[in-house]
Amino acid sequence: MTNLQKTVFTFGSKKAQGDASMKDLLGGKGANLCEMNLIGMPVPPGFTITTEMCKLYNSEGKVAVLEKIKEEVHTAMLQIEDQMGSKFGDNLNPCLVSVRSGSRASMPGMMDTILNLGLNDKVVEGLIEKTGNPRFVWDSYRRFIQMYSEVVMGMKPKSKEDEDPFEEIIDQLKHEKGVKLDSEFTAEHFKEMVSLFKNAVKQFTATDFPTDPWEQLWGAVIAVFDSWTNERAVYYRRLNHIPDDWGTAVNIQAMVFGNMGESSATGVAFTRDSSTGENLFNGEYLINAQGEDVVAGIRTPQQITLEGSRRWASVAAITEEVRAEKFPSLEETMPSIFQELIDIQKKLELHYKDMQDIEFTIQEGKLWMLQTRNAKRTGAAMVRIAIDMHKEGLLDEEAAVLRVDPNKLDELLHPVFDPKSLNQAALVAQGLPASPGAATGQIVFFADDAELGAEENRAVILVRIETSPEDLKGMVAAQGILTARGGMTSHAAVVARGMGKCCVSGGERLQIDYKNRTVSIGDLVLKEGDWISLNGSTGKIYKGKIETTAAVLSDDFDTLMEMADKYATMKVRTNADTPKDAEVARRFGAQGIGLCRTEHMFFEEDKIMAMREMILAEDEAGRRKALAKLLPMQRKDLEGIFEAMNGLPVTIRLLDPPLHEFVPHELENQKEMAEEMRISVKSVQDKIASMHEFNPMLGHRGCRLGNTYPEISEMQTRAILEAAINLKKAGIKALPEIMIPLTGTLAEMQMQKQIVTETAEKVFLEKGDSIAYSVGTMIEVPRAALVADRIAESAEFFSFGTNDLTQMTFGYSRDDAGKFLPFYLENGILKNDPFQVLDQNGVGQLIKIAAEKGLATRPDLKIGICGEHGGEPSSIEFCHLVGMNYVSCSPFRVPIARLAAAQAAIKEKKNSNKEVNSIKKTEEDLVLL
Ligand code: PEP
Ligand code: MG
Repeated sequence: MTNLQKTVFTFGSKKAQGDASMKDLLGGKGANLCEMNLIGMPVPPGFTITTEMCKLYNSEGKVAVLEKIKEEVHTAMLQIEDQMGSKFGDNLNPCLVSVRSGSRASMPGMMDTILNLGLNDKVVEGLIEKTGNPRFVWDSYRRFIQMYSEVVMGMKPKSKEDEDPFEEIIDQLKHEKGVKLDSEFTAEHFKEMVSLFKNAVKQFTATDFPTDPWEQLWGAVIAVFDSWTNERAVYYRRLNHIPDDWGTAVNIQAMVFGNMGESSATGVAFTRDSSTGENLFNGEYLINAQGEDVVAGIRTPQQITLEGSRRWASVAAITEEVRAEKFPSLEETMPSIFQELIDIQKKLELHYKDMQDIEFTIQEGKLWMLQTRNAKRTGAAMVRIAIDMHKEGLLDEEAAVLRVDPNKLDELLHPVFDPKSLNQAALVAQGLPASPGAATGQIVFFADDAELGAEENRAVILVRIETSPEDLKGMVAAQGILTARGGMTSHAAVVARGMGKCCVSGGERLQIDYKNRTVSIGDLVLKEGDWISLNGSTGKIYKGKIETTAAVLSDDFDTLMEMADKYATMKVRTNADTPKDAEVARRFGAQGIGLCRTEHMFFEEDKIMAMREMILAEDEAGRRKALAKLLPMQRKDLEGIFEAMNGLPVTIRLLDPPLHEFVPHELENQKEMAEEMRISVKSVQDKIASMHEFNPMLGHRGCRLGNTYPEISEMQTRAILEAAINLKKAGIKALPEIMIPLTGTLAEMQMQKQIVTETAEKVFLEKGDSIAYSVGTMIEVPRAALVADRIAESAEFFSFGTNDLTQMTFGYSRDDAGKFLPFYLENGILKNDPFQVLDQNGVGQLIKIAAEKGLATRPDLKIGICGEHGGEPSSIEFCHLVGMNYVSCSPFRVPIARLAAAQAAIKEKKNSNKEVNSIKKTEEDLVLL
C-alpha cells in the first residue's frame, strides 16, 4: 500500500509507521508522535488518520470517509489493545482513548479534542474494578460527557453572558453539598454529576448520550474533521495564511491519566522561555488533573522547575514558606520524574534543533509524552533563541538567519511605555507577564465588543476570566488581553505570544462580573469603557492611560541583522519623504531612499497655498509665478533629506498625483484661496469643477502632468540639483536619482528626461558647479513593462511601482477594492490581498518581462521596487529571484526586508534549483491561480 492509499498510521512501543517528515499527511502532532517513538520516548500507543481523509470528508462526506477508514481503524485499534493489554469497549478490562486534531501547521486550541472516550455505565464499573479508584473513574466519566456533548453534540451556553450548562450543574452541586473546591468532590458527587449531566444532554439535544464506544469514536472522528471548518479555525487560518485545503489529521491514542491521585499529574513545558527566549526550561503542571485543566486556565498551575517557581512566587508576592508548602515545583514534588523530563527535553531540543513545546502526563509515577512541537514564541524570543542556538553550535549562521520569521520582527519595533508617563500611573494589580509589550485601552469584556471597538478605531483591552479559542477575533482586535485565571501556558498566553500581542494572565485579585460588566480589584471597581494599561513584560496592571515611546533594540537583534546583511544580495532602501523618516530608516539600516514622494511635501501648511495657486493659475505664466514660490521650499526640504542620507542614494520622484487632490473642497478654504489669489470664490469653484475626472487614477497624473506642464518638472529638477550642490559645499554628499512616474511609452520618458537634462545644464552653469545624477522611471503601467526594452533606451533605472502596477493589471481600483476584496478573500477567489502580497503569476510576470527586457537594452540598468510589496517577505523573495538590486519599503519595515532579503538569498543557494529562478511553479505556492 502506498502512503496515499494508507489511511491510518500506527505508533507505539518505540516503533512507528510515520516520522517527523510526514507532517503534510499526519499533521504536526501525528508526525511528531511517530518521531518521539522512533527516538525512544515513552509515548502511549495510538494511530493517526491522515489529512487526506479530512479532505475526503470535506468533498464526499461522512459515509464515504467512514467506509474508507473503518477496516484500518479497527486493525489499528487492535494494536493499541495489544500494547495496553486491555480492550476498547470491554466491560471488564476497558481501554479508553483520546481523539485529537492536528494539522500540518500548529493551530493551538482552534480545533477539537475529546478525552476518556470509550466510557459508558458498564465500562465505568469495569474500570473501577480494574483501578480500584472510583473517584477517578467517575471524574473521568463526567469529564468525558462534558467534552463529548460540547464538541460532538453541540451543547453550548445559550448566550455570551450565560454560564456553561455543565458548569451551572457543578456550581449547584457545590452549593448543595457544601463543597468549596473541586478537589473536595467525592466519587459519589461525581457519580451524581454524571447522571445530572446525562439528563441535561437529553434535555438540551433531545438525544441520549451514546453508550456504544464505537459510535462514540466515529462521532468524535467526524467532529474533529468538522472542527477544521469551524469559525475560529477558519479565522485562524486566514490570520496565519494557512491554506484551507490542508485538512486536519485525527490522532487516536490510548489514554494515560494524570487524574489518578497524588502521584499523577499533567503539564505543559517549553524548552526555553517563549516570552524572552532565555535558555531556561520552564512550564507548569497540575497534580491530579487532566491536560485540558492546564491549558484552559481553570486552576492556576504550579511551576515545573524550582527556579521558575521562585520567580513566579516573587512576581506574585508569595513568601518562600508559602510557596514551598502550597505551590511546590515538580522538581520538589517528584524529583526523579523531573530529572527524566529534563533529559527528555534536552534530547528533544537537540533532535529537532529548535525550541519545543511539550505536553506530558504522569500516571501513578510514570511519565508519558503526549506531544512535542516547535514552540510558538514572541519576536524577541525568536531572535534571541536563533542567536543563542547559533552560539551553542546547534544552528549554523544560515540556519539561524532562516529561523526568524521576518514579520515577527515587527513586534520588536513596537512601542513601550514612556517612563515619564509610567511614573505617574497608578499600579492596581499584578498578574503574570504572559506576552510582552505595552498596551493601553478601554476595558471590554466580550470578544465581539473588542471587535466593535476596533471597527470604531478605539483602543480596547479585552478583560476575561479566561479566554477560549472562541475569543480569537476579539484578541486580534484588542490592544492587549488581561485574564483573571490561567498561567503562562493558558490559551490566552500561548495565543497572545503567537500573535505578538501584549497579555497579562492570572491576575488573581481580579473579580470579573460579566453580567454587570465590571472588574473589581479590592475596593476599586472598573467598568466597561474605563481605561487600563498593561505591561506584558512585567505583568503589571495600571489604571488609566499611559503614553508609549519607541522600543530599544537588543544586541541579539543587531547581531541577527549583521548576519543577515552578510547573505543578502539585494540592498534595502526606504520610502521616506521627511528627514525624520529618513533618519529612522537609516537607524534601521536603510541603504538609501528608494522613493521620496515629493507631493507629500506640498501638503504642509506653508506650501499648500502656493501649490493651489499653481494649480488654479490660468496659464503658464501664472503657474511659473506660483512655482517660483515653491522652489525654495522644495529645495530646503530636499536638503534636509539629502543631509539625513549623506552618502547614500536618494530617489526623488517628480510630482505624481492628480492635481485636484491638492485643491480645497470646503467652502471655508475656497474663500481663503479666492482672497489669496484675488479672484472670486465662484472662479475658484469653477476651476475646481473643471478639474473633475471620472477615473482620476487613470487621468491627468504622473508624467502626463510633467509633460503637459513641463514647468513643474523643471522646478522640481532645479530644486533637487540646487539642494545637492548647496550641500556639496558643506561636505555633504547627495546622490540624487530623479524618477519619472507612471511612464507608459518611450516618448513620455524621453520628453521628461529632456526637461531634466536641459534644466540640469542650466543649473550647473548658473552655479558654476555640477553633481552626478541619474534619471530613471517607475514601472507601474503594464505597457511600460511590455515595452521596457524601449523605455530602457532612455531610463537609467527602473523602480517597480507595484501599487499602481497591481491596480492596473487587475483593474482593481486601489481606493475601492475594499468593497469586494474581503469577499474575494473569504470565498477563496483570491488567496491573498494582491495589494499586500505580490501576485507573482500575474503582476510578477510583468515584472519579470520588464526586468529581462530592460537589462537586454541596458545591462547596467539598476532595478528596484518601491510599492508596498517591497516590505513583504514573500514578495521580497520574488524580487530577489528576478534579480533586483534593491527593495524599498517604509522605515519600520526595513529590518524585516533586510532579513527577508537574506533569507531569499540563502534559500536560493540551498535550493540551487535554477528553475526556481523564475515564477514559482507548484500549485500550493501560487498566490493566485
Ligand atoms: C506605486 O504605485 O507602487 C508607488 C510606489 O507609487 P504610489 O503608491 O505613490 O502611487
Ligand atoms: Mg504609483
